Amino acid sequence: MKQTKIPYLYQDKKQLFTENPKETKGVKVYGEKIIKNKNKELRSWNPYRSKLAAAILSGLEIEIKSDYKVLYLGAATGTTVSHISDIIQNGTVYAVENSSVSMKKLISVCEKRQNIIPILNDAFHPDRYTSIVPNVVDLIYQDISQRNQADIFLENIKKYLKEKGLAIIMVKARSIDVAMKPKTVYENVCKYLKENNLMIKQVLELEPYEKDHAAILVGVK
Ligand code: SAM
Repeated sequence: MKQTKIPYLYQDKKQLFTENPKETKGVKVYGEKIIKNKNKELRSWNPYRSKLAAAILSGLEIEIKSDYKVLYLGAATGTTVSHISDIIQNGTVYAVENSSVSMKKLISVCEKRQNIIPILNDAFHPDRYTSIVPNVVDLIYQDISQRNQADIFLENIKKYLKEKGLAIIMVKARSIDVAMKPKTVYENVCKYLKENNLMIKQVLELEPYEKDHAAILVGVK
């Protein structure tokens, strides 16, 4: 088991684990395995359930500090959010989700994890959560399978991302165009993001973990 460059993230071959904080000792979020390693409790992070884990195993190179403020768009029931919460143990995840059904489950995750702020709102309208999210965040992470996903990403970057900050979008090719080749969809998204003054740092296809999905890491010029 090796400690990675990302805080509280460990790797053993192709398996990832995040360190469960003392406050959530023994608490599972989605039925994941918990193991003990040198007085630490580690939660396995399933790349078939979390695109961020899939992207890390596919070579994502990103710096995350434990005190980061992360804006998370498309939080669902908190699977990936919970692992980010483990990583940024001295920071905060602002988790935006527009489904009240998913939000109910997410809130139960937040009750035990004080560094997640749940926000029931539409990520396409970032003005609606200015009273909760700080003026600038260190990282934006988006996993929203909607046709207008690139626009949602841009609006939130413009509004909240710090200077020289990084942002990751998980692109589901079929949500944008079912008929187009996924590679062409990724190229079109990159072109659009570049036209809007972003630098493309990495494009990672997520197979074998997720079919027709890519993680695009961007930086602000
Ligand atoms: N990121 C989650 C994870 O790894 O645990 C899975 C996210 S799931 C693929 C996409 C989520 O985005 C769904 O829960 C959906 O309700 C939410 N969503 C879709 N459109 C949205 C919008 N405009 N604003 C906020 N959330 C949205």
